[in-house]
Amino acid sequence: MYNAEIETMPLPRLRALQDQRLQDLVAAVYSKVPHYHKAFDELGIVPTAITSVKDIARLPFTKKSALRDNYPFDLFAVPMDTVSRLHCSSGTTGKPIVVGYTAQDLDVFSELIARSLYATGCRPGMKLQNAYGYGLFTGGLGLHYGAERLGMTVIPVSGGMTDRQLMLLKDFQPEALCCTPSYAQTIAEELVKKGMTLSDINLKYAILGAEPWTEAIRGQVEAGLNVKASNIYGLSEVMGPGVSVEDVDERGTGSYIWEDHFFPEIVDKDTGEPVPEGEPGVLVLTTLTKQAIPMIRYWTNDITNIYYDKGAKRTHIKMGAIRGRADDMLIIRGVNLFHTQVEDIIEGIKDISPNYQLIVFRAGNMDEVEVLAEVSENFLKSLDIAEKDHFEQHDRVVALRGFFSKKIKDVIGLSMRVKLVLPYDIPRSEGGKLNRITDKRKQ
Ligand code: ADP
Repeated sequence: MYNAEIETMPLPRLRALQDQRLQDLVAAVYSKVPHYHKAFDELGIVPTAITSVKDIARLPFTKKSALRDNYPFDLFAVPMDTVSRLHCSSGTTGKPIVVGYTAQDLDVFSELIARSLYATGCRPGMKLQNAYGYGLFTGGLGLHYGAERLGMTVIPVSGGMTDRQLMLLKDFQPEALCCTPSYAQTIAEELVKKGMTLSDINLKYAILGAEPWTEAIRGQVEAGLNVKASNIYGLSEVMGPGVSVEDVDERGTGSYIWEDHFFPEIVDKDTGEPVPEGEPGVLVLTTLTKQAIPMIRYWTNDITNIYYDKGAKRTHIKMGAIRGRADDMLIIRGVNLFHTQVEDIIEGIKDISPNYQLIVFRAGNMDEVEVLAEVSENFLKSLDIAEKDHFEQHDRVVALRGFFSKKIKDVIGLSMRVKLVLPYDIPRSEGGKLNRITDKRKQ
């Protein structure tokens, strides 16, 4: 382990550490951040009354709107001249969300990424090809400095330019790759297309995150790149990647949340009340040590569950895979729809790749959903068409489209328009993410 003392700390000691850190946090935000001062006063909360994490449910939630309303720097708890770095998250409308880090915050960020990388199998001396986007997005620089802290050699290639990624995988022989799961799939597919084989590369570990993924995707990436692929989770508002991570030997059993720095809760998405341990709900995170922009009970909107895994290597609590976002639930002609329902259907159709997007719009007074889905490379190859222009009219594409839309109607009970497109035709965002939903009704 990178930091065995902390990572295996007995729970009573971990709890005492959290209690102390929470007291300091509450005192700091009350005296330094007007937003929290006002919110605490409105609820009649005296900071000294919060003495333990058991009291945390008395504190108000902080939602994304608080970051938007206090744009750019009004939630900061330190003078601007002590802020070493700013990052942004894409945000859904207009202005981005801005977060800041003091030198100490960056030090914690690097420590947590170093711990996380170690847990996924990385070791000092190994090379890490970092294909997360560098820039305002937290992923690139976050992984970069954490890998350096661990003692790895970082290849800061950033996202995109898949030919160059493959060249570096071959020429530099890195043992580890980090990127989004969908980009790892792309790299694996391109490797075959370029006529390369697994003996050309030396990868052993992949550290994948920044978007939801499934066991089916894990299987594809592990086979396609000959790696053990572990999950890394995080969000800009709370720090960035490295809030939680899967251990390489415990893949599929959940990701450790680093409890010495983050206090997690799971609450009901409608009532905000805590749910019993292990039950799904909205993940709410409190940053216990962050200086520049501390977060009290941040409502992540991510749906998951948390639980202690008694047989595990570490004592910290685990979270399951993200099952969707609380705000991702679409209501289409009165029917509740999660995009993961469409994903489940796609997983059962081998000719369609896991790269898809739902576009929701209004036609007259009716909500309509169009499903854009990329066909698999193998399916495209098997069509043997010289002119990709004729793709949509090809008999087998027409048949596949019919089969897919009937499945959707039968399983979900909603009619959707289906459009099959070529691999890589759905645009990815700067961080390499494929947004699962474009809701044009809100624009
Ligand atoms: P942006 O908002 O610019 O995309 P963020 O890093 O702040 O950048 O995005 C954080 C969100 O990304 C999380 O709240 C979650 O919904 C998603 N996410 C990050 N890592 C994972 C992961 N490992 N599994 C599922 N979802 C993830």
